[in-house]
Amino acid sequence: MRTLRRNRNALAGQGGAPALVVRVFRERPGREEIEFLGGSARTPLLLPRPPSTPLLFPMTEHRPDQLGDLTIEMLPAGERTHAMTVDVEDWFHNNFRSAPKLDPQDLPRRVEEGVDRLLEFLASMRARATFFVLGAVASDHPTLVSRIVHAGHEIGCHGMHHDLVYGQSPETFEREMSHARELLRDQSGQPVYGFRAPSWSITRRSLWALDLLARIGFRYDSSVFPAANYLYGINRAPTSPYRVTTPSGRTLIEVPPPILALGPIRIGVGGGLFLRALPLWLQRRAMRNYARRSAAFITYLHPRDFDPDSHHLRLPLSTLEQLVHRFGIRSVPRKLEALMRGEEWTSIAELLERMIPLAEATP
Ligand SMILES: [Zn+2]
Repeated sequence: MRTLRRNRNALAGQGGAPALVVRVFRERPGREEIEFLGGSARTPLLLPRPPSTPLLFPMTEHRPDQLGDLTIEMLPAGERTHAMTVDVEDWFHNNFRSAPKLDPQDLPRRVEEGVDRLLEFLASMRARATFFVLGAVASDHPTLVSRIVHAGHEIGCHGMHHDLVYGQSPETFEREMSHARELLRDQSGQPVYGFRAPSWSITRRSLWALDLLARIGFRYDSSVFPAANYLYGINRAPTSPYRVTTPSGRTLIEVPPPILALGPIRIGVGGGLFLRALPLWLQRRAMRNYARRSAAFITYLHPRDFDPDSHHLRLPLSTLEQLVHRFGIRSVPRKLEALMRGEEWTSIAELLERMIPLAEATP
């Protein structure tokens, strides 16, 4: 606080010139990090550090060898630690409980505008990404997948109609995912290695889906959210990539999204609502924590995050689910740019290739 007062005095001596506002984090003695918040004066105004968070990121990785009844094995750390992912769906795709049944044919489409803006943004950041495309979107917008591929990105599968996996029968799931994967493979001219379930809906009651995904030919899945909430998640699931062996002896790599932990409580970070709602400094600290553990930090976006012209389109949802769906949506490009700056971001396939050759992995 003495430093803060001294700099306030220095500031007053400059005749009210705008301050260069910084915030200093000291994680341990000799390791200070400074976050620049804005302003232009030569003398910084030091803000006190954010509330002490000693419990926030110890994250001593729980390293189980089981996920439900499935045997798992943690993968060694890779060289690159950040992967960017996009779930390619339209503004009205969701699995909220308060959402009315709507016929997509009656709704305006905005997905192409959002994807084009995202492609431009990723090119400006020199970043590659995995685009998990919904089969129904690929079918209705037949040139979209090839535009994404031409921009140098990986194509993965986000299901067919954005149905919850745990709400489907194994037979329907296998039929629809095979169809969606074939469609995406034909449109992209690439092997489709990765799958992400709508609303992270591979949970304890739908772990059977991992065996079917491996049988269909997927090499990795990114659908098990390692923090539980009312819609999805498995609370004690690992937080960095692991290999799952299914009851029929097939294997699949699971690539979880990042979380932060407050003691036993886990919440998401770096994507979706969590990217929109949590302050930037907290997300940066989560990224640094993952980097220190050499764990992959996988962020996740939607085309609507980059489509301000669609922000007037609203679903008739409950107040709470409206907030989950849209809170802070205009902040995404700014927060993301700040998170990405100075870091290398790539696709999940490229990240995993450093650990295990995907083309040779036997499903
Ligand atoms: Zn989705």
